Amino acid sequence: MKTFRLIVGCLLLASPVMSAGCNKVFLFSREDEIALGEKYGPEFEAEYGGRVDDARVQEYVSSIGLDLTTAAERDMPYQFALLRSHTPNAFAVPGGRIYVTVGLMKDMTNERQLAAVLGHEIGHIVHRDSAKGLQRQLGVELLAAIVGEAVGGGGGTAAKTAAKVVGGLVNLRYSRDQEYNADQAGIKHMAAVGYNPWGMVELLRLLEREKEAGTLGEMLSTHPLTSKRIEEVEDTLREDYPAFSPTQPDPNAGRFMAMHGRIVNLPPPPPKEDLPDVPDDPAPPAETDTSASSGARPPAIRIPDVE
Ligand SMILES: [Zn+2]
Repeated sequence: MKTFRLIVGCLLLASPVMSAGCNKVFLFSREDEIALGEKYGPEFEAEYGGRVDDARVQEYVSSIGLDLTTAAERDMPYQFALLRSHTPNAFAVPGGRIYVTVGLMKDMTNERQLAAVLGHEIGHIVHRDSAKGLQRQLGVELLAAIVGEAVGGGGGTAAKTAAKVVGGLVNLRYSRDQEYNADQAGIKHMAAVGYNPWGMVELLRLLEREKEAGTLGEMLSTHPLTSKRIEEVEDTLREDYPAFSPTQPDPNAGRFMAMHGRIVNLPPPPPKEDLPDVPDDPAPPAETDTSASSGARPPAIRIPDVE
């Protein structure tokens, strides 16, 4: 039933002005996103070694994240977790699941940097960036079938289908516009709950140093980092948040370092197996769902066979 509605909606909405047809029409409802996150979130976590087995650290990360969501413009069942992977990265999975890896938290030196990355990822959920990216990668037909199954609560999903969903999330690439908007959202969330938003600049500079050292790896393809991005954040902070200064110390750095001490020597999880049948994300998305073609369209999305 659900699948039928999605596909019919696609046919009705497709028009000649939408050169890429259904791929430009966003079809995820809030409930679809939540169902998809519930069904595939655990498999996504497993891809990054699963959750760190330390309730105090998880509670700490979660409390910072949930505090920030009180300023978010979109009501979702947000949840936050620290994953065991030593590859620095952070993720927003459709439905409101937000993850940071041990590899990224290890590099931080205070709490406002952690708040910055969580605030940025909340921004991707608010703007539905990860859900849009997944639709772009999997194509409408396959996505409709997957969502229909997830919403229906069916337990049986082919392992190959799960691999496509998880692989689609792992390979997401956000556009420069999406990164700008997530940074701006993150700053807003931080300031609203009392964090010095200059933590966002500290975070981006930390990532820039890793990028130069060649140790940032896959995070760069997910969240493109440019010097312009840092300048844009600095401009916003100087213009819109004059009460904050980059030289003010983080009053919560001590409690952050106490948690940092609990994770810094954790061993990495066993190497993950390669995901089969996962196409690369063809290109960063257009800025809006229904914009006219700019002449630089991503290639047509391959629609894999439905399992
Ligand atoms: Zn991002």
